[in-house]
Amino acid sequence: MKKIAIVGGGPGGLTLARLLQVKGFPSVQVYERDLDKDARVQGATLDLHEESGLAALQEGLLMEPFIANYRPGADKIRVMDKNAHILADEHAGEKEESRPEIDRGPLRKILLESLAEDTVIWDSQFAGMERSGDGWLLSFKNGMTAYADVVVGADGANSKIRSFITPIKPFFVGMTVLEGSVYDAENLVPEMFELVKGGKLFIFGDSKTLIVSAKGDGTLSFYAGFKSEADWALKGDLLDWYRAEFKGWAPVYETLFANVAGMITRPQYCMPLDQDWEALPNVTMLGDAAHLMPPYAGEGVNMAMLDALELSRSLANEKDVQVAIAAYEQKMRKTASAMAAMTLEQTEVLHSSGAIGSMMKIMGQL
Ligand SMILES: Cc1cc2nc3c(=O)[nH]c(=O)nc-3n(C[C@H](O)[C@H](O)[C@H](O)COP(=O)(O)OP(=O)(O)OC[C@H]3O[C@@H](n4cnc5c(N)ncnc54)[C@H](O)[C@@H]3O)c2cc1C
Repeated sequence: MKKIAIVGGGPGGLTLARLLQVKGFPSVQVYERDLDKDARVQGATLDLHEESGLAALQEGLLMEPFIANYRPGADKIRVMDKNAHILADEHAGEKEESRPEIDRGPLRKILLESLAEDTVIWDSQFAGMERSGDGWLLSFKNGMTAYADVVVGADGANSKIRSFITPIKPFFVGMTVLEGSVYDAENLVPEMFELVKGGKLFIFGDSKTLIVSAKGDGTLSFYAGFKSEADWALKGDLLDWYRAEFKGWAPVYETLFANVAGMITRPQYCMPLDQDWEALPNVTMLGDAAHLMPPYAGEGVNMAMLDALELSRSLANEKDVQVAIAAYEQKMRKTASAMAAMTLEQTEVLHSSGAIGSMMKIMGQL
């Protein structure tokens, strides 16, 4: 039976490992650069979709732990303007729950705990690989090497595996996201905490966005999106920058920036919509490595998990690995291209002067 190496233990890589093990693949290894399972604070909350994230969990026999860990009500959205007026509110009235929310940390834990012992090899930052017989000899930054018959790149936006498959690179979409977290938000930013009400805020103004979400551990995560050059970098003090860039916004929003535990700058890139390549006999990729796109449609994790589902089915149903990879990749590119087109359009609209009207339309309030 073939040895399968998955490089990257994000939602895509871990879901694939789980699905392959459920389908009876005996030799699946995940190589993850994090030092251990607790190495990083996992980001904000995610809504999983019926046809993708939830479908993968279902096939991975993981709905029970998911139901025990998801956060009812966390999908409720409020739309606000820069003056802190609430324009639409899903907390008022009955909202049918169709996209249950789970925090990234608990999702990762569910996936990790579902895997056979020692599936994940921590502290294994992929450095390169060379052909070895019919397979590949992978090498890692810590000096370790490992053989695999099939390699799957699940190593995210800056994938190293991708370059073995295609030279096509992502393009800059003209904006940057600054991502931050306020811990113990109930005490540090009580007014914002109350506004978020355990759900999400979408705040629009001056062609900028501020999206805030509540995590189960009492943290508020937020990301500010604005048009920029590709090499935008915060120079000087964060609060000075915020006051200049978000001039005239209600004072309550500033409390997030005044109490943030640290910011990550994320210039936004997208893979070309028409990307194409010939399937290789024994290397493929999934998730952000294959189809990075901005986060404004909330599809990234869902797509990574859907890729894992489709790839696991393809590998299980087809003996010839190259045929299985080709079938999976063809479908994946088509789905990702349609999703990226929608996401780019949404990103543009939400960062335009008509953002509020468009969001209200999306929410059925206009
Ligand atoms: C601000 C922001 C908000 C977002 N909001 C949402 C949302 O609401 N809903 C949603 O669905 N998506 C959202 N996304 C997108 C989502 O985070 C990604 O699409 C998703 O995490 C992709 O999953 P992945 O498994 O492909 O890659 P990743 O989650 O990036 O995982 C890659 C893994 O590979 C590891 N790795 C990287 N390089 C190496 C290496 N060389 N060797 C070994 N391991 C390596 C990393 O440590 C990581 O664990 C958001 C993204 C951002 C930036």
